[in-house]
Amino acid sequence: MSAISDNLQAVHTAIVEAAHKADRDPATIGLLAVSKTFGPDAVVEAAANGQVAFGENYLQEALDKMTAVHAMRPDLALTWHFIGPIQSNKTRQIASHFDWVHAVDREKTAQRLSDQRPEGMPPLNICLQVNISGEASKSGVAPEEVLALAQKVASMPRLRLRGLMAIPEPAGDPEKQRTPFVRMRELLARLRAEGLAVDTLSMGMSGDLAAAVAEGATIVRIGTAIFGHRDYAQ
Ligand SMILES: *Cc1c(COP(=O)(O)O)cnc(C)c1O
Repeated sequence: MSAISDNLQAVHTAIVEAAHKADRDPATIGLLAVSKTFGPDAVVEAAANGQVAFGENYLQEALDKMTAVHAMRPDLALTWHFIGPIQSNKTRQIASHFDWVHAVDREKTAQRLSDQRPEGMPPLNICLQVNISGEASKSGVAPEEVLALAQKVASMPRLRLRGLMAIPEPAGDPEKQRTPFVRMRELLARLRAEGLAVDTLSMGMSGDLAAAVAEGATIVRIGTAIFGHRDYAQ
């Protein structure tokens, strides 16, 4: 019995249940498997169970893993999402090796990613990280600055602005958990009302998946519930 296979099945069931409760079509919710700290074997095993999209936070770890996965299974066509904080000196490799970047929160980073996205690859899919819980987190653009940044990113030639991403503070009770996700839903609607062709809300992790789906998440980023607890000590 494979734990990853059972876990993936359980996560799919949780997504379907949350979607039905919210009167949503489960097919509109994508599952991003967050494989950080887990090795290529775990990715290959998840892929063998139908998982296609993988999220990584640390560039060097991700590049090593992609190479190893490709060596093990050159036939697999996976998509890779960079979901961690972005340092300026890493943008070239991120732009060359990933399909999506979720945590863009400043114009300078976006400009570098656009300038450095290789010709011949499709535009890089971008989500803007929103600092939705206020001062608790330093990363993310402030909600009142999202529209201005979104308009700039949407005009960059090698990027495709897809939507918004957030990592809200854990709230404790399920009702309070929904508050930041409601604000995210409203922010995305605001961008649409301004004419931006955005379709993505990247929100919801192992602990708050149902609340995020209830408020319109289109990508949930799930690590622990698929791969188990992370050991950062190694
Ligand atoms: C690690 C991580 C996740 C996955 O979190 P889990 O609680 O393990 O599901 C999702 N999103 C981001 C940005 C992360 O860094």
